[in-house]
Amino acid sequence: MENITIAIDGFSSTGKSTIAKLIAKKYNYVYVDTGAMYRAVTLFAMQNNLVTIDFLKKEDLVKQLENISLEFIFNSDLGYAEMFLNGENVEKEIRTLAVSKLVSKVATISEVRKKLVLEQQRFGEKGGVVMDGRDIGTVVFPNAELKLFMTASADKRATRRYKELLDRGDKVSFDDILFNVQERDRIDSTREDSPLLKAEDAIEFDNSDMGIAEQFERMCSLVDQKIAQN
Ligand code: C5P
Repeated sequence: MENITIAIDGFSSTGKSTIAKLIAKKYNYVYVDTGAMYRAVTLFAMQNNLVTIDFLKKEDLVKQLENISLEFIFNSDLGYAEMFLNGENVEKEIRTLAVSKLVSKVATISEVRKKLVLEQQRFGEKGGVVMDGRDIGTVVFPNAELKLFMTASADKRATRRYKELLDRGDKVSFDDILFNVQERDRIDSTREDSPLLKAEDAIEFDNSDMGIAEQFERMCSLVDQKIAQN
C-alpha cells in the first residue's frame, strides 16, 4: 500500500488543522501545519521590529531570513508537533491575535514563501504527509493525490476561532476576530504570489453545518479510495 500526499487548503479557521491531525493519526502520516511556519516568521519579524500594523520592513526581513530556523518537534503528551523558532518553543505565542493580525502581510513576501515552500516540499518528499495551508494543492504539491478545499461561513469560522482563543485564556472580542478572519481571507486571496485558490482538482468541503465526526468519516473514505487507486 503506497503512502499518498494529502493537501488541505481553505479559508482561515475552517478547521483544517483539526481534521488534518486526525487523519495523520489514523493513517500514521506526518502532519505539517504550514500556517505555523508563516506565523513563526511573523513572530520573528515582530520581535525584531520589522512589522507592525503600520509598516513592514520587507527588505530587512528578507535579509534576516537566513537567521530564521524553524523546527517542528513532536510532543507526545499533546499528540502533535509544536513549532520551535530558533530553538525556542513558540507554539503558544504564534496563535495569538497579535500574530494573526500581521501574518497575512508577511505571507505576501515572495522570498518568505520561497523559503517556506522549499522546506515544506522536503517534509513531503516521501509521501505519507497531510499538509494544510493556503497553497498546498496549487504550489507546494500540485501533484498531491488528494486535495481538499475547506470552506465555511465567516460567522461560523469566527465563532470557532473566538472559542479557541477564549479557552486558552486570551481576552479577545468577537468583532475583532470576525474582522481578522475576513481580512486575512481578503489578503490571502488577492496577493500576487500564490494566492489562496481552489485547485482545479480539489474537492470542496463546506463544513458550516458539519460536525468533526462527519467530516472525518467523509474524508477517511476519500483517503481510502485514493490509497486503493494508488
Ligand atoms: O493556517 P493559519 O490560519 O494558521 O495561517 C496563518 C496565515 O499564514 C494565513 O492567513 C496566510 O496568510 C498564511 N499562510 C499562507 N500559506 C500557507 C499557510 C498559511 O500564506 N500555506
